[in-house]
Amino acid sequence: MNESYKDLSPVELLDCRAKPFGYAIKDAYVASGAPDNDLNVLAKASDLRKRVSALVNDESPAFRNAVRNANVMYAGTDKLSADNPWYDHDNMPHGTLQWLATASDTEVVQFALWNTSRQIKFQTKLSKQQPMLEAETIRKTKSLIDMNVFPKNAADHVRVSIGHYGTILAMDAFESGLESTNGYTNDRIIALANNYDLPWDMDGINQEMISTTFHEYLHGTKMGGAGTFMNGLTSGNEIPFRILEEPYVTHATEITRDPRLPQPEVINPYERYNGNIATYVSERHLLSIICAEDAANIPIDLLSEAYFDQLNSNARRTLEKKLKKFFTEIDDNHNDDALYEFANGYEATHMSSRGNKNSYVENYLSALFAKQGIESTVEDEMMRPDSQITTTDDKIIFDFTSTSE
Ligand SMILES: [Zn+2]
Repeated sequence: MNESYKDLSPVELLDCRAKPFGYAIKDAYVASGAPDNDLNVLAKASDLRKRVSALVNDESPAFRNAVRNANVMYAGTDKLSADNPWYDHDNMPHGTLQWLATASDTEVVQFALWNTSRQIKFQTKLSKQQPMLEAETIRKTKSLIDMNVFPKNAADHVRVSIGHYGTILAMDAFESGLESTNGYTNDRIIALANNYDLPWDMDGINQEMISTTFHEYLHGTKMGGAGTFMNGLTSGNEIPFRILEEPYVTHATEITRDPRLPQPEVINPYERYNGNIATYVSERHLLSIICAEDAANIPIDLLSEAYFDQLNSNARRTLEKKLKKFFTEIDDNHNDDALYEFANGYEATHMSSRGNKNSYVENYLSALFAKQGIESTVEDEMMRPDSQITTTDDKIIFDFTSTSE
């Protein structure tokens, strides 16, 4: 194994982005039509094992997190299904990836064949259920329009988003674990992790999958041509405002989770009734502080109008003006570009350091509180996730989105 793997992300290293772990082995196996002593198949198994070894032996925090998360995801979704003789639960005290790093070529082949077949099953299941996920997305959109949270044109944008992506891709436990994600969108792909109520049987589609689908399709509305915050705030300032888009999209999703008590105006995750604080907590906390009446004074309907509007619209310009004023006033040097520098800095930060404790956003929040001479309003430190990934019942419930492709 040469050193070039260090330039790759864990999913690239294991070659499992938008395809199942070990798919190349399955392909070689099918092509050879031979049993598992085929040299080409075994060579691919050997190569994959070396890549897994490189990943599990790497000491960098991002890789260590990725390995831990993939093991957690695998244990929560797949392990009970992998009850095969070659898969020795008792000899896997450290997790699946560690087992794979020391498994024989034959075991790696068997595992890869099993994982690829399982992934095909997941994709088939998900495709059957996609019409329901789309209908739920449209239903959520309409409910937000009825509440005057979304503008009326949101329904058209969401339909365009759904039409643009076509089939939702299923992510296996490796990809979702290594990337710490329940779902993602880029320009071409929308992908979902297995979050069924019975994940090992892929049965019982749950609120988590429905919410993630809605969240990702909201990001995807940028494909309609108008662009979202990820494409910039206003024309002339077209840097990605992921720092605004993620908390906004997450908040919109949260509003739809319990229509009986939607609380559209409460952006701060620590103040929401359902305590659902798992995703983009720091980002939503910051957004709530910025949007408050005695700060930039940005009502939720202005955020929404701007989100679904053109770069040169009045709503976008009004929003930018308010944000710019807030960041400039807070900045020590009253720098006019403080807003854009903050957004650029967030974009440039590795996703594992963006929104967790001691992260880019949390550090900004601390500085903000220090300047205002107030303590953080968060009493319970336990509520803050320690890392980008938060796991509940062995299920990864964090999410991110990527426009890198
Ligand atoms: Zn997102």
